Amino acid sequence: MSSINLDLLRQGNRRALAKAITLVESKLDKHREQAQDILEQVLPDTGKSIRIGISGIPGVGKSTFIEAFGLELIKRGKKVAVLAVDPSSPVRGGSILGDKTRMEELSREDNAFIRPSPSEGTLGGVAQKTRETMLLCESAGYDVILVETVGVGQSEYEVAAMVDFFLVLMIPNAGDELQGIKRGIMELADALVINKADGESINLARRTKQHYQNAFHLSKHGSFWNPRVETCSALEKERIGDIWEMICEYQQLAIDNQAFYEKRSRQNSEWMNKLIHELLELRLNQSPEVQARLPGLQSSVINNTCTPFSAAKQIVDLL
Ligand code: GDP
Repeated sequence: MSSINLDLLRQGNRRALAKAITLVESKLDKHREQAQDILEQVLPDTGKSIRIGISGIPGVGKSTFIEAFGLELIKRGKKVAVLAVDPSSPVRGGSILGDKTRMEELSREDNAFIRPSPSEGTLGGVAQKTRETMLLCESAGYDVILVETVGVGQSEYEVAAMVDFFLVLMIPNAGDELQGIKRGIMELADALVINKADGESINLARRTKQHYQNAFHLSKHGSFWNPRVETCSALEKERIGDIWEMICEYQQLAIDNQAFYEKRSRQNSEWMNKLIHELLELRLNQSPEVQARLPGLQSSVINNTCTPFSAAKQIVDLL
């Protein structure tokens, strides 16, 4: 792959950005090294966006919402990048998020950049690549990064750990049960947005809002921010601007309370810890000495001639 022109990247050239992202997503060691080199160089240009996670079960209206939200932001003079963390791609061989025509109108905008979920790789997985892609988008001048994920499994936690604001989309349904929403997600969410608040669903959406407001009231968790519950219609493009204003309000409050950059620093340090473990695992898997000793030690453990602890220690000491 030819080298990347960093000046072009910083000027927001899409080809340069797409090429840099391809390097980040590559499984080849050589590309990964190049990608890290680029990331180091653009690091001072990163961090200036607001990073927003958007989650919800399939069918809740994520792509419709992101399209409406993205268009609204562009109208307000922003440059918007849409990234995805799709947890299903390695398992199902296809993706939940990426296999339909999505966000057609938004994708035609000069000030929008849409990147589907990377496929599962080796080091760090999909979430790490999305983090790095986010940094590249920031260096290319995108000032709002939307990270979309599906409301299943681990991916919501991974996305919440890389964004400033985590928004969970819901459908109107004021049953007694908290529909499909795990307790943990309530704790992750900075806002719940009841989508499809239109037509015959308007009243139900209002009741759903009340329901969740009560639930949040019981589980207050923020020192400066209590999670909000809003309604909108992504299809009719209603109350979309209000959601952006709510996020701006959050950002201002978080900055005023010294929580905004503190959260990013904490996220970075947690990310580093995660990478240390992953790098160590990679070293273990790639070490010829380890691979040579492993079968013998495994037999010793099975035959009870060596304790698992002692065997594990001997392996780790080889590094
Ligand atoms: P995703 O799977 O979460 O990305 O959901 P989609 O954006 O593909 O939307 C799923 C379906 O819900 C589509 O048929 C949309 O047209 C519809 N939909 C999305 N947003 C709204 C909305 O605000 N109101 C109504 N009535 N339908 C919506």
